[in-house]
Amino acid sequence: MAVAFSDQVRIVANDSARWDVFARHESDVRWYCRKFSSVYVSASSATIVDEDGREYIDFLSGASALNYGHNPEPIKHAVVRYLSEDGILHALDLHTAAKRDFIAAFCETVLKPRGLGYKLAFTGPTGTNAVELAIKFARHFTQRETVIAFTNAYHGVSLGSLALTGNRSKRAAAGIALPGVARLPYDGYLGDGLDTAALFERLLDDPGSGIDMPAAVILETVQAEGGLNTCSPQWLRRICETSRRHGIITIVDDIQVGCGRTGTFFSFEGMGIEPDIVCLSKSLSGIGQPFSLVLLKPALDCLPPGAHNGTFRGNNLAFVSARAALRYWSDPLFQSCLERLCRTLRDRLDAIARGFSQLHTRVVGRGAILGLKWPDATMANRVSAAAFERGLIIETCGARDEVLKLLPPLTIRDDELESGLQKLEGAIADAAGHATDLIARGQDHE
Ligand code: PMP
Repeated sequence: MAVAFSDQVRIVANDSARWDVFARHESDVRWYCRKFSSVYVSASSATIVDEDGREYIDFLSGASALNYGHNPEPIKHAVVRYLSEDGILHALDLHTAAKRDFIAAFCETVLKPRGLGYKLAFTGPTGTNAVELAIKFARHFTQRETVIAFTNAYHGVSLGSLALTGNRSKRAAAGIALPGVARLPYDGYLGDGLDTAALFERLLDDPGSGIDMPAAVILETVQAEGGLNTCSPQWLRRICETSRRHGIITIVDDIQVGCGRTGTFFSFEGMGIEPDIVCLSKSLSGIGQPFSLVLLKPALDCLPPGAHNGTFRGNNLAFVSARAALRYWSDPLFQSCLERLCRTLRDRLDAIARGFSQLHTRVVGRGAILGLKWPDATMANRVSAAAFERGLIIETCGARDEVLKLLPPLTIRDDELESGLQKLEGAIADAAGHATDLIARGQDHE
């Protein structure tokens, strides 16, 4: 890949200046840049290049905001064409041709083939804002307050969605009480023998349980930040069935695991449920443009006009890129490549776990969001650091950062995937202090 040594590189030629500007001027609240410390200038597919020309394989993919990779050609062309034609870039929520084309394409490509009749509500550009609107709809419609959220859930960091998020340190940052939420155990949280959907049912059926009748239940089918815990279709169906009986709105937060991450457009496809509300964001725009969407059953469309206003609802460039991204979903080749990627990832991670069985390595997750987990909770962070040294960007998740999370682009090239997986194996060996061992057995590909 050609290295783009642009003007940016010359501006930061002085080594201390290139770091000082961040350290001196950017708030300490910054996060990912601490772990993957470099200054990046260009990217294509699953490869990012820093200003020294060093290439990294990207298994973070903007936390699944880049499911189609960096600068995917068909989407990039649509964006460039729109810009070159002076297409409307900002229009509040005014009607635009770009918005109309996106809505029509989304209905035709995503909703209609799945028999779904949702209405579309465009929110502020972040995922957390979509969650805020979803719970407003549910509370307003039911005239109830409580929302049930699960252990290890992640729904964002603005106050309403932060109340739903499980992580203690993220919650503490609010500095005030986060009310209106009841927390229940996710599938598997209490171990294999205990069905937490049965507990959910019992607590809601029992007027003495102490749980106020909730407005909504919100869940992720794969807890992408919370440690890649997955729920079974039976569990999900029981939660939805109990909710239906009690008039509780079901909200699926598909912000990280929607848009193909689990192998289908929605993560709940094939699980026998139809949520009342679905939140989408991240990869919806297809090219990393901020863009969020709430899908809701028409009967729930109860808020008055303007009740969830915001300057950046409906990013017109994102309407254009998102529409171009939808074309992947009518391409059978994309879908078969995605199935192949899911299978390959699972097979390769199972093989890696077997290869490192002495570390009691476990594979977790579903589809193309898989992770590795070790009894030693520090291992995931050590592997992530070692991987970065080898030129692989890979993040951890879980309440104790105990899971190493693979989020390669769904369109990753075979050579990039192979290179990333080889770096990953090498990094596990490094982190476990087994490098020499493996080299002696000829297993280290680096
Ligand atoms: N819900 C889920 C499931 C997420 O993974 C995220 C982001 N990691 C959010 C909500 C919040 O999205 P954003 O960071 O864009 O506010």
